[in-house]
Amino acid sequence: SQKEIATPTRTKAILEAYGFKVKKSLGQNFLIEPNVLRNIVEAAGITGESGVIEIGPGIGALTEQSAKVAERVLAYEIDQRLLPILQDTLSDYPHVEVCHGDVLKADVHRDVERVFKKGQDLAVIANLPYYVTTPIMMKLLEEELPVRVMVMMMQKEVAERIAAVPGSKNYGSLSIAVQYYAEAETVFHVSKTVFVPQPNVDSAILRLTKRDKPPVEVIDEAYFFALIQGAFTQRRKTVLNNLSTYFKDRLTKAETAAILHSQDIDPVRRAETISIEEFARISDAFYMKTG
Ligand code: SAM
Repeated sequence: SQKEIATPTRTKAILEAYGFKVKKSLGQNFLIEPNVLRNIVEAAGITGESGVIEIGPGIGALTEQSAKVAERVLAYEIDQRLLPILQDTLSDYPHVEVCHGDVLKADVHRDVERVFKKGQDLAVIANLPYYVTTPIMMKLLEEELPVRVMVMMMQKEVAERIAAVPGSKNYGSLSIAVQYYAEAETVFHVSKTVFVPQPNVDSAILRLTKRDKPPVEVIDEAYFFALIQGAFTQRRKTVLNNLSTYFKDRLTKAETAAILHSQDIDPVRRAETISIEEFARISDAFYMKTG
């Protein structure tokens, strides 16, 4: 039987056999360490009952490891040149379906309904292209797919920002945007040396466990997320200064300070110390005056 796709020798042989030249613009860095891939499958808690959605299968290294365990796999690959390769490398796994296209434009809900059983346990796994990590992750979260968990490789710094807690230097609007939908944790770090070609950045595996419902209730979600971005505009400035700039057409600085005080938020605090619960209170209080 053949070696696993992710072994360095097999990956090299596949790329050579097809004369495949990686496209940096598509974030093509292929993993060549089967153990890292097995760890991703394990971190996602995939079982023989699970359905798996993979973003960017490349030549099928991670797809193969999940297909060995899962009941069914649906993978989205944007690069047409990889389709014949995947058909070949994954020929032993008829329960894998590869969709050609940009996952950002795909109707994932429709595909999920077509491919998986109703109520089936679903996990997203990916070694994400670094250039579109955040848009892809936010699309999958905001569309509220019936997914239990998402385990994704990304640039280490981005994973740390997503999983950050209030009071830490990495905590910001991205942490809150993601943690609104899921519990976030960095599972492990991955060395540059296990990719071909080697990327310039270090990587980490992030696990997002979807919440049944958001940790806070707000009057208007879009207003809440926009206010948070406003509060973090200049990290060194106080929440009062950032929000009075953000609300400058609607409120005076004194009014902004008064609203913060009304919610027991000291206006000289920085946004990076403010929890999601506090932001929810702040957002609703401003909404009542401006929304
Ligand atoms: N899963 C493979 C692995 O671990 O070796 C490949 C990972 S590589 C970092 C990212 C893959 O995502 C590439 O195959 C690339 O062509 C694909 N890709 C990039 N942008 C995409 C998009 N918008 N939608 C779907 N796939 C995309």
